Amino acid sequence: MDNVIKINFESLKPPWIHKADFYKMPFNYCDHWCEKCVLTSICRVYKNNQKAKKKCKSKGIDPYSSECAIESAKDSLDEAMGMIVKEFEKMKLDSNDLPEDEVIFESQTFPLYELSKKICQKIDEFLDSLIDFVGKEGDSADVLGNLLDYYKHLIPSKVFRAISSQIEEQKDDEDPWDSSVSAWIICQSLDRMIFSLSFCLKNPKFKLLQQQTKKLIRILEDFRIIIEEKFLKNDYCEQKM
Ligand code: SF4
Repeated sequence: MDNVIKINFESLKPPWIHKADFYKMPFNYCDHWCEKCVLTSICRVYKNNQKAKKKCKSKGIDPYSSECAIESAKDSLDEAMGMIVKEFEKMKLDSNDLPEDEVIFESQTFPLYELSKKICQKIDEFLDSLIDFVGKEGDSADVLGNLLDYYKHLIPSKVFRAISSQIEEQKDDEDPWDSSVSAWIICQSLDRMIFSLSFCLKNPKFKLLQQQTKKLIRILEDFRIIIEEKFLKNDYCEQKM
């Protein structure tokens, strides 16, 4: 475990988050790509996922099927609900008295979210070209393709969350904890894509893709600057760094 922390701790932890908090709950700050994660040995979410997979297997359900995912999600929700009910009882509150959600966010009204979807289209176009370079499973083009494909799906949802959290935080005059963590995960995802694309630029195998690769890197770098400016350049993050 020490090695994991020593090698990767600082690069995975948002600089404004205390080490102890990160260590306890690394799943709050990650991209949830557990197969690629070096923190599995300290992560409660990972351990629970493994348990859920075992449980599915014992019931004859494919642990990698959507059926298993739904079963596991149901178990987690039941567990969370049990904890919430207990907390309510402790605080002598009635869950039926809670106010309705006041804000319903329409994703179409966020230009930055729309921009993130356009960027994903660019990634898609790149992936279409990359297919011709994939030889066998696990080769560099295959690895790059999987990585881009994973983050392509993650980024718009995180952008949406960062925007909606920021609106809520500003409305309630709260610290931008949630929006800055979402932005951190977006930046980490963009960094990984940029790094992998830059690495492939050096590989003569991808010579015919050079222009397209450089263009995509520029797009991702520009988008990173926008995310950083909008969500991470604030007193909350900078004071704690
Ligand atoms: S093991 Fe999975 S959930 Fe846990 S920190 Fe790593 S990626 Fe996140």
